[in-house]
Amino acid sequence: MSKNYIVGFPRIGEQRELKRVLESFWAKTAGFSEVQKVAAELKARHWEYQRDAGVDFISSNDFSLYDNMLDTSVMFGAIPQRFKHLSGEELYFAMARGDASSVAMEMTKWFNTNYHYLVPELSSNDSYKLDASKIVNEYNEAKKLGIKTKINIIGPITYLGLSKRADRGDSYEFWGKILPLYEELFKVIGTLDDEITIQIDEPIFAKELNTKVLSLIKPTYDRLCAVSPNINIAVVTYFEHSNEATKILVHTPIWALGLDFLYGDENLDSLELIAKSGKKVIAGVVDGRNIWRCSVAKTLGLLENISLVVKKENILVSSSCSLLHTPFTLKYEDKMNSEIKEWLSYALEKLDEISLVSKLFFDGENSLNKTQKEALNSNIKANQSRKNSTLVHSKRVQERVQNHTKFQRDGISSERIALQREILGYKDLATTTIGSFPQTPEIRKARSDFKNSLISKDEYEKEIKKYIDECVAFQEECGLEVLVHGEPERNDMVEYFGEQLSGYGFSQNGWVQSYGSRCVKPPFIYGDISRPKPMTVEWISYAQSRTNHIMKGMLTGPVTILNWSFVRDDMARGEVSKQIAVALSDEIDDLQKAGIKIIQVDEAAFKEGYPLRDEKIKIYEKWAVRDFKIAVSSAKKETQIHTHMCYSEFNDIINTIEDMDADVISIETARSGNELLKIFKEVGYKKEVGPGVYDIHSPRVPSVDEMVKQIELLLEVLPKEQLWINPDCGLKTRKWEEVKQALKNMVEAVRIVRERLDA
Ligand code: GLN
Ligand code: ZN
Repeated sequence: MSKNYIVGFPRIGEQRELKRVLESFWAKTAGFSEVQKVAAELKARHWEYQRDAGVDFISSNDFSLYDNMLDTSVMFGAIPQRFKHLSGEELYFAMARGDASSVAMEMTKWFNTNYHYLVPELSSNDSYKLDASKIVNEYNEAKKLGIKTKINIIGPITYLGLSKRADRGDSYEFWGKILPLYEELFKVIGTLDDEITIQIDEPIFAKELNTKVLSLIKPTYDRLCAVSPNINIAVVTYFEHSNEATKILVHTPIWALGLDFLYGDENLDSLELIAKSGKKVIAGVVDGRNIWRCSVAKTLGLLENISLVVKKENILVSSSCSLLHTPFTLKYEDKMNSEIKEWLSYALEKLDEISLVSKLFFDGENSLNKTQKEALNSNIKANQSRKNSTLVHSKRVQERVQNHTKFQRDGISSERIALQREILGYKDLATTTIGSFPQTPEIRKARSDFKNSLISKDEYEKEIKKYIDECVAFQEECGLEVLVHGEPERNDMVEYFGEQLSGYGFSQNGWVQSYGSRCVKPPFIYGDISRPKPMTVEWISYAQSRTNHIMKGMLTGPVTILNWSFVRDDMARGEVSKQIAVALSDEIDDLQKAGIKIIQVDEAAFKEGYPLRDEKIKIYEKWAVRDFKIAVSSAKKETQIHTHMCYSEFNDIINTIEDMDADVISIETARSGNELLKIFKEVGYKKEVGPGVYDIHSPRVPSVDEMVKQIELLLEVLPKEQLWINPDCGLKTRKWEEVKQALKNMVEAVRIVRERLDA
């Protein structure tokens, strides 16, 4: 007896086949039938992989041509007014990506992952109607291949909780409209087979919920369970514990609860209750969102713990969440250090881990066949090697980090800023940019040619210098006041630093879906982190040597480096981030010694690392702020520290921002006038702020007039002495023509506003 369960599987394909065909279809070089053909092949292959690995519970409807939340909206006919004239794939992709006449639906992060879903738009002007065809077809597709699947569905509480109302109001008001559609859907599903399992994903149960939402759980699941006697319902949560919901769900007739015991070990506290209810526990014990090979011994220990309370026959062994959040397979990683590769496990390899652990748990070691015995030995060996390897553990780094006692900069911010203004001599409403300038095809080619040894170091450096020269010349000519070098040597703000830090690894094929056809390939932190040598000093100093203006040094902050990487699981995240912070503090010291007077430490991903639960948010904020401050602790009073954050909603984190103690923060407020700046005034924020005055995410060039108005709006909230004027993020995705015109207009707007203020 072994019951192996996978919450969901990646769909982009091991060679990103789905990405390729979708992008060809959008570029009109492939027809929709080709998309369907590739999709069918991928589904079939993915089901077979899982079957061959011995997975008992394989999903259908975890596949999607773009996103499952979008699929759910389409299934219910929740189509925003602006798309209603469309149908079929045209409708589907217009909702996802926008078209000539309508903007796309809003996209946002799926809980605390880097996967993005399309936010449903509900409105009382709309009526909803079920179209179950995707689910029915996918179920039958698998059945034809001889594979009986469980059907994955996003649960009603999560669907509504993540929706927004086009007509204002609370989405949960639509419970009475949407639940009958779920019942109708279950009726349809009930006819598909004699006995059928539905997995209902309710990740929203992993967040703090108010009593109103909690009160919806019981009626929802009582009603869904009543629809059809041949349906088994498994309610699955992940990324955190869901103890409040569990307390309610045990009193409904659901068949199983899926819980994440890795990212929410508090779920263990619910086991007594579940055991009493006699329900199954789908035990998420193999990490579905990281790349480390599990330790079979440890995983087994966790399962044994669970079985102290819940009968073995009621336990299923599962991934902690959908494997969507891990890369597909290690089999194409042929350039990776072989010792390190042994420590890793992507989605395909995780299937085998689950099978092995489950076999051991249910049937004992004696039941293993030869291959399984080998797999077990290899797992033990890999874990031992990782535990002892000098690639991972450096006494020197550990001691250095432990003995680091400088936790903040000298002086208080008001004195520091006064001193800096005196020395740096910048004006009120000083103009600057966020760091990157357009990444041209030539510069991309130079980087990749150099990486592939097609050009020499000399040739490469000549290209970079040429770019910097031109970039500096443009900024001077344009009249910008604090300059940047433009970041031509960086393809990515985390990878660039990862490549130069010890303890960082890179994959060839570690792609993870971010949204639609877009994938990211995060680097991974496997060992203690240190900085063998300066990382940015040469380029920044070169750029500074080309101008008499102040050249701003540009670094990525410790928390962002951490949040955009896969992080080792044998050390607390806060400890890893502290190691990065200490390395960065050395970099800052080197920059100021080289004569750099302003240094920006980007924390673009500071907010997205926030945990789902309040009590853990406090812990996160504590070490995240500590590590930002450690990173900049080496900056002398007269060195001005800037930071940049890529969002605009600061209301709930304003105190944390204040604690970070940066002299200047630039933020993304261009799309909301001065509304979002007001919180800075409310809390009496005294340091300097650069609220982006135009949106760099659009190719549109804002006029001088527009920006004058925007600056005047800002001045209604904060005094000129406190404001910097800049675009709202880096310019690397824009074209030079757009950037040149927009920045000229921005500088002109500042000139006009200053003149008015002086008059
Ligand atoms: N300095 C970086 C840039 O300008 C910041 C990017 C970001 O915030 N995402 O590209
Ligand atoms: Zn940004």
